[in-house]
Amino acid sequence: MHHLFYEHPYRRTHSTRVTSCEQHNAVWHVSLEETIFYPEGGGQPGDRGTINDVRVFDTLYDVSGDIVHICEAPVSDDALCTLDWEWRYFYMGAHTAQHLISACLAQLSYPTVSVHLGNDAVYVDIDAKHLSEKDIAHVEQQAFACIRQNLPVVSRSVDSVDQLALRRPLSQKAISRIHMQDIRIVEIGNGDIDRVACAGVHVNSCSELGYILYLSEQTMHERLRTMWLVAEQARSHIRLMQHSTQEIKHILSEPLQSLAKRAQTIQKNLKEQNLVIRSLQQKITSIKCTAATSGLLKVEKDELYVIKEIIPMLLKKTDQQKVFGAYYVHESHSHASETVVDWIFVHPPAAVLNHPLCISSKDNNTKRNNSKMVRGTNTLSEFSFFLKDCYDSIREPPIADDL
Ligand SMILES: [Zn+2]
Repeated sequence: MHHLFYEHPYRRTHSTRVTSCEQHNAVWHVSLEETIFYPEGGGQPGDRGTINDVRVFDTLYDVSGDIVHICEAPVSDDALCTLDWEWRYFYMGAHTAQHLISACLAQLSYPTVSVHLGNDAVYVDIDAKHLSEKDIAHVEQQAFACIRQNLPVVSRSVDSVDQLALRRPLSQKAISRIHMQDIRIVEIGNGDIDRVACAGVHVNSCSELGYILYLSEQTMHERLRTMWLVAEQARSHIRLMQHSTQEIKHILSEPLQSLAKRAQTIQKNLKEQNLVIRSLQQKITSIKCTAATSGLLKVEKDELYVIKEIIPMLLKKTDQQKVFGAYYVHESHSHASETVVDWIFVHPPAAVLNHPLCISSKDNNTKRNNSKMVRGTNTLSEFSFFLKDCYDSIREPPIADDL
């Protein structure tokens, strides 16, 4: 089968004839006299499109090395082939961009180990630990210089690579096949920028790549996976970043120049607040324990309740300590062992605000003018012990059984 995709990488339609059509489960494997469909290989996916309006899902080499078009229905005789051009052109560009990126990385002595052309990014795995900001700038700037100069990308067949300086040595598999077929060499800038053996299809000039943008990196086994965006991928990513940045600027009311510093401050504050919250949670736990042992307090849904009967004692005690405010907000009742216990809600839990504890004593008839505040009790934990002291001081001492 004649491979037209090498001679005419920009041809989108072609008329030829079907040489075979065999059903394999739910699909048909179609062979043609010649084809513009590129078969999967070299990291580049197989072409899609139609043959006589029958959908071609994929194109690949079969075990005998012939190109097979995977179709959703049988086709025969004359074949009008039409490429899914958007698909093909995207991968021609991505593949060429990968060559350029690998060439620029090689200038930094980071050899390419493997590549993957994703629909979201170009993945270039290199033998390196990390790419510095300087490295990234080098690759982006060098690639953009090639794009601006519109350097040519030329693919040609050779029968020997002995006299050619290749960025990457030929694989053993390729060497073993030299006697069977020509080797395809792809050069950027007449070989000044890059020269490598590759069987994929590429664009004709660097300007078609538009722009190459570094996205991120990820440490893999013994290698570094670098991710790059090309052309529309880069444009849409920049647009997304622009949109997100504008939103964050608006939310924080901060200019772009100081946005990162502001984010650092927020993160620092958040860490500090989280430490405070953790400390308070520990105190709440302590209070719950204290309340459980004293029977004077209970904490429900982060609200503090005290037993109503101790309030007069509390006020008496606090008056002696020059207390100047206390009031309660509401009452709740619990029935235990036929004894009604009135619980008084105390607000707010001072430990949360780290302020002197305020005891609420407002009911339906009184306003907050009789507010009192317990001085000297800064946390709920301290307050719980204070209450217990009050209670113990007016309780009759227990009568010992052995007297
Ligand atoms: Zn290639």
